[in-house]
Amino acid sequence: EGIWRLSKLAVSVQNDPGKDFLQVHNGLLQEIAKVLEFPVASMLPAEAFSVVRKSFDARKILKEAKFVYTVDMDVRKLLSLEPRTWDFISRLEPKVGLIEHMPHERSSHDLTSIVRDFKDSNDDTLAREHRHNIDSSVSLKCSPARKPKIAVVGSGPSGLFASLVLAEFGADVTLIERGQAVERRGRDIGALVVRRILESESNFCFGEGGAGTWSDGKLVTRIGRNSGTVLAIMNTLVHFGAPKNILIDGKPHLGTDRLVPLLRNFRQHLQSLGVTIKFGTRVDDLLIQNGRVMGVQVSNSTNKLQLDCKKLGFDAVILAVGHSARDIYQMLLSHNLDLVPKDFAVGFRVEHPQELINSIQYSGLANEVCRGRGKVPVADYKVIQYVSNEDEHSPFKLESTSRSCYSFCMCPGGQVVLTSTSPSEICINGMSFSRRSSRWANAALVVTVSTKDFDALNFHGPLAGVKFQREFEQRASLMGGGNFVVPVQTVPDFMENKASVTSMPPSSYRLGVKAASLHELFPMYMTDAIRYSISMFDKELPGFISKEALLHGVETRTSSPFRFTPRDTYESMSLRGLYPVGEGAGYAGGIVSAAVDGMYAGFAVAKNLDLFHGDI
Ligand code: FAD
Repeated sequence: EGIWRLSKLAVSVQNDPGKDFLQVHNGLLQEIAKVLEFPVASMLPAEAFSVVRKSFDARKILKEAKFVYTVDMDVRKLLSLEPRTWDFISRLEPKVGLIEHMPHERSSHDLTSIVRDFKDSNDDTLAREHRHNIDSSVSLKCSPARKPKIAVVGSGPSGLFASLVLAEFGADVTLIERGQAVERRGRDIGALVVRRILESESNFCFGEGGAGTWSDGKLVTRIGRNSGTVLAIMNTLVHFGAPKNILIDGKPHLGTDRLVPLLRNFRQHLQSLGVTIKFGTRVDDLLIQNGRVMGVQVSNSTNKLQLDCKKLGFDAVILAVGHSARDIYQMLLSHNLDLVPKDFAVGFRVEHPQELINSIQYSGLANEVCRGRGKVPVADYKVIQYVSNEDEHSPFKLESTSRSCYSFCMCPGGQVVLTSTSPSEICINGMSFSRRSSRWANAALVVTVSTKDFDALNFHGPLAGVKFQREFEQRASLMGGGNFVVPVQTVPDFMENKASVTSMPPSSYRLGVKAASLHELFPMYMTDAIRYSISMFDKELPGFISKEALLHGVETRTSSPFRFTPRDTYESMSLRGLYPVGEGAGYAGGIVSAAVDGMYAGFAVAKNLDLFHGDI
């Protein structure tokens, strides 16, 4: 009885209708029958099975690339089978990793049950798992007493989800965003890409949806794909217009074109719950009394000439400002908040022709990609290399500090974009559209750095990592010659410490590239770590070192360069009423983990302000 979960059902590319087909088909029924040891696949009723996950596995160790499925079987729906065939099913035994009996049916519990779980748990670390789904349309009742006034600063994933939870609780939420709503932000980004006008408050980092809007929109996360909270985030995104396949796809991806309307729906829902949204409004300072935050000081971020500060009072402030709000970090430091530098990673963005990556990864299947319209997904890669001087065969002079060098935020079929927030600095990242149909594949290629590296450049204190980032962003800007031109070097030239002067491969970066000696940008020990790693990546992905591969400088904002400490609860220990969350707090990285962090912060505030005492 109940639900059985069948895993590792591998279907060949010939027998599969393709990456976009997420239902049970004949090829899959054949595999299900094999796992069940059921002799006649065509007698299995397709309606008894539902696809839970579908991934494409093209690892080199396999003889042949395959689609791999996880499927749930609802035993009640098999009852129509004639008795002898039913016998097969009733003798079903669990098989490790293949057949598993699910003790409970998958439930579609909603936000109310997550809140109830949370309330019962008394777990102040907030790090525990919730096994249920969230349905953002569920309204919760809150205490009839005066509504607590809460400011959420920043409308990235963490700020949006914190606002959603608190609005559902019935709090009086004001969402304050220095950038613009997606409609106007789109025009500002257009002006940047076409006319080189960088709006310091409305760009690839700042504005509605935060850094994740004009992004690749990958929804992969390292915090547990199947955890209840991640499912809750995914379900909420579907509720606001994301396609349902993000719940099933092994590597879910949205793309900028889908994110923009989704954010508009998210905004309308928040407004319907009574959230006040202030775009073009920057928080410049915190109002503090007796070790407690009492509100924020804001100014109109679109008005550059006049200083028009306003003081707004709040019972709690959620700070969800992301990893680029350097002015606000400085302000926090002036209030003696507990910030400590944190390790992160810096390096380059490497770009290859997408066809090259397809052929490296898929060999004969490469022509099935058809620029995102084919049967198999546009190929990606993920590489990592541990670097230490213990490798005696290395031709590179590696220092004793061990580091990791890895690819990060890979954007298949994407483009390199400018994520600077100041005209004197260059930093870049990658974005894509849902089809991933561009001719290029880009990824960050970064090496870990720590306080030892900041010290070596004489950068000290809690914001040493920010100074370190800025140093290399300014060097990149100088190397590019200004005007947002990005310095580039082919991978073979970088490997040989040779300036790229001859013909350069094209780049997807729209504001122009300039041949430069990127091997001179970072300290030699970092350059050598990257060179050594690239030589190893080329073994794993033969062709990675290609004259068509172009390094772009620099990728510096991979994650926050500091974190708030300690974090027993979401509330700052040094300033009561302040809740730093998301990537800027140093506890999340990526769209989904930032959203989860924001959601938990919402619960923490609700708990501390006694919103749970409502009859939920
Ligand atoms: P953010 O999204 O950075 O949001 C912070 C918000 O706060 C911003 O909107 C900002 O304008 C606002 N703000 C800052 N200071 C103030 C202030 N003083 N007053 C008012 N408002 C303020 N992650 C993925 O998981 N998948 C991807 O494919 C992916 N691609 C990316 C591509 C690009 C180009 C970039 C830049 C990032 C990408 N990321 C991706 C990373 C991801 O976007 C971030 O990890 C995530 O957005 C962090 O969420 P957050 O809410 O913590 O902060």
